[in-house]
Amino acid sequence: MNMAEGGERTNVVVIGGGIGGSLVAKTLQNEANVSLIDEKEFFEITWASLRSMVEPSFAKRSVISHSEYLPHAKIITSAAVDITETDVLTSQGSRVPYDYLVVATGHTQRGASTKTEKISQYQAEYEKIKAADSILIVGGGPTGVELAAEIAADFPAKKVTLVHRGSRLLEFVGESASKKALNWLTLKKVEVILGQSVDVNSASDGVYKTSGGETIVADCHFICIGTPFGSAWLKETILKDSLDSRGRLMVDSNLRIKGHTNIFAIGDITDIPELKQGYLAQEHAKVAAKSITLSIKGVEDDHKLAVYKPATKALAIVSLGRKEAVAQFPCLSIAGRVPGMIKSGDLFVGKTRKGLGLQPDV
Ligand SMILES: Cc1cc2nc3c(=O)[nH]c(=O)nc-3n(C[C@H](O)[C@H](O)[C@H](O)COP(=O)(O)OP(=O)(O)OC[C@H]3O[C@@H](n4cnc5c(N)ncnc54)[C@H](O)[C@@H]3O)c2cc1C
Repeated sequence: MNMAEGGERTNVVVIGGGIGGSLVAKTLQNEANVSLIDEKEFFEITWASLRSMVEPSFAKRSVISHSEYLPHAKIITSAAVDITETDVLTSQGSRVPYDYLVVATGHTQRGASTKTEKISQYQAEYEKIKAADSILIVGGGPTGVELAAEIAADFPAKKVTLVHRGSRLLEFVGESASKKALNWLTLKKVEVILGQSVDVNSASDGVYKTSGGETIVADCHFICIGTPFGSAWLKETILKDSLDSRGRLMVDSNLRIKGHTNIFAIGDITDIPELKQGYLAQEHAKVAAKSITLSIKGVEDDHKLAVYKPATKALAIVSLGRKEAVAQFPCLSIAGRVPGMIKSGDLFVGKTRKGLGLQPDV
């Protein structure tokens, strides 16, 4: 499909402004008429979000208005609610025509829709942490562990309790990495309660009851449980048959949604069998952008499109405060200063900003 014929510029629509969607929009903005549809007017480096809760000024670099890196694209701040063979419909009633579409709606996100609101939200969370003597964190995935570690590192006098429903922390990495995270938190005097849940709505006067009957006293709490895939709305669209049983979009090796030659999916929303990681979403974005560029230039042979090879080896780093981290490498896990040097100081913020064509610092 070569939409550039006849001098008309090709319409590329990207839904979702996380790392995957942002990067594909940035890469294609000079090749086509690019529209980015996102519920919020900014891109956030998600893996830096917990630092912003203990240091709100950190968000000035990690929360980035889409307009900063997309001077040549159209930014539509609205939720996409339907997709037809030719258009995307938004909640505000716009109809956005596409020749190529990239779906990158990852996981649902709640909260702020402007950068100013987001930064104020971090300031409020910081004040809440500062004012509390004791803090309950619910959820022992990467968000709960990183938040507990940030608080333990910056506010060592506060009593932090982390409750996790699962039998071990960080279930997406190996057992030894989980144990290392647990040991680190325990050494920092974080109380970790595994195999239990807490209904925060039934708490009264700062007293929380766990499912196992334990009592936790805390001045405030933070819920750090995973959010669902951003795909519920797709069930009413032409892509409804392309969703797997878990609500992920099924893609081929070119990252095109099965059954559609001009619709791609990238990032966490895909059924690619690998860990859901931002650095992989960036690789997906490069592949989709390359294939779309080739198609715009008139390449019709599918075999010439860019191919994505799923990452077969686990690689993940969970920061533990500002200097340490636990890393899952393919054959081993390590904790301490060495993985901390890779991630925990800047949390890849400078690197991610550079990837979007921005100065690493502001
Ligand atoms: C605490 C934590 C630490 C992490 N650390 C790392 C790390 O160190 N390294 C790493 O590689 N990965 C890390 N990850 C994982 C990484 O954040 C995700 O893999 C990555 O954000 C996925 O990007 P995405 O573009 O697919 O989707 P998302 O980041 O989920 O973005 C989805 C976007 O779609 C938008 N959206 C959703 N529905 C709609 C709709 N209907 N209409 C319009 N817009 C919509 C949302 O507003 C959002 O902007 C971490 C994650 C967490 C939670």
